[in-house]
Amino acid sequence: MFYARAMLRESVTLKDLDDRHQDVRAWCFACARGTVIDSIIWQRFAARGWPQDLASAAARFTCSACRSANHVALYPTRRPPAPPNAPSLLVERFFFDVRSLRKKRDPIAERAIARLVDQWRRR
Ligand SMILES: [Zn+2]
Repeated sequence: MFYARAMLRESVTLKDLDDRHQDVRAWCFACARGTVIDSIIWQRFAARGWPQDLASAAARFTCSACRSANHVALYPTRRPPAPPNAPSLLVERFFFDVRSLRKKRDPIAERAIARLVDQWRRR
């Protein structure tokens, strides 16, 4: 039973969670520490062509305590209810995400952002 559930978890992707309005909990078994991450992060994985199933994606989440991803596992978790100012928070988050990606000078992210801005302009 446990094995079957583990297999099921491994076939679930970050985008599946976002589609189901769930977020992802990253848990480090070495430190017994965890954090909840918005599953919208699948877009970053998609832009970079990284595998998005929870088992593979775990390798990209490093623990803030031990700085290692070796003992990190990902689990679906319930998304907190959206606050009344959710739309403005979304815009804010997009702005800060774009700004931090630009600072990193990531060519893939730059192209993704340019495409998004272009789509907005064509509306
Ligand atoms: Zn750790």
